[in-house]
Amino acid sequence: MHHERPSFLWYNGKMTPWDDATIHVSEMGWSTIGAVFEGIRGYWNEDQGELHIYRLREHMERLQRSMKLVHLPLDYSVDELIEATVELARVNDCRHDTYFFPMAYTADTYFARFDGLEVKTSLQILTRPLPSHLGGDKKMHAKISSWRRISEDVMPPRVKNLSNYRNGQLARQEVGIDGYDTAILLNTHGKVSEGPGACVMLVRDGKLITPDLTSGILESITRDAILVLAREVLGIPVEERVVDRTELYVADEVFLCGTAAEISPIVSVDRYPIGDGNVGLITRELDRVYEASLRATDSSYAEWRTPVGLAATVPA
Ligand code: PMP
Repeated sequence: MHHERPSFLWYNGKMTPWDDATIHVSEMGWSTIGAVFEGIRGYWNEDQGELHIYRLREHMERLQRSMKLVHLPLDYSVDELIEATVELARVNDCRHDTYFFPMAYTADTYFARFDGLEVKTSLQILTRPLPSHLGGDKKMHAKISSWRRISEDVMPPRVKNLSNYRNGQLARQEVGIDGYDTAILLNTHGKVSEGPGACVMLVRDGKLITPDLTSGILESITRDAILVLAREVLGIPVEERVVDRTELYVADEVFLCGTAAEISPIVSVDRYPIGDGNVGLITRELDRVYEASLRATDSSYAEWRTPVGLAATVPA
């Protein structure tokens, strides 16, 4: 792991030296409750000497939707945000698996009420190294949290509003104290929703099943990719529908998926062993084809990747 700070971040339209991007502590109050963000990964391909950013356009389009929902004005086009991200990876010379963290929040809040509509947006994009755990031996024990997933009538679960993350944080803390690795949250109807910062999928009788987009989940880009790969590459049927809690207990395989979570196998839920208690075959196959689509080890799904252009440059 590298622990030094990157040279630059993108801050309100400018490539800005890391140490110059400061704001006053008085902005700590209201500036982030309506903030929205993205989590995007770039994967390093050692043979090509190239970094590939995964589904960058879809992430920036979701940022645009998130901003619309929380009434934050966006002063840039999706194309400008894509170009800014690519340029940032180049100037920071990101020759390793990289996490990109764009965040939009309310600027100049000291004299503002928290509920005003006349807001000015600040927007930044950060990079940091984040190694992949795909192809590894990650195994998690999950517990259904007693916290329910936020629902449409309270907060907007389908977008990446920073305030939403108190929900997953409480769930993860609760089950962590009880000795589990991760939480699964039910929605207000008592049906399966998602994990803290990741979607949940299960395999039963050779079918891949995941809660539908009205189950109180984020409109996840990884979830979409996994469903496409399962259907098109592995040729297995997929179902997006309401999922019962006890379906998890009797599933053959369960895993979480998301940009940061990638594919994270779950081997027990509420101490019910899943399948034979080991990582299942379809989970391992999905891990393999997902990694190929991210890291560009073959040419399929090239439309999902944005090469940064590092292959054409000398390391800094
Ligand atoms: N749900 C939540 C609440 C999340 O924060 C994330 C991570 N962004 C996901 C699901 C997975 O979404 P994605 O695949 O787009 O990263």
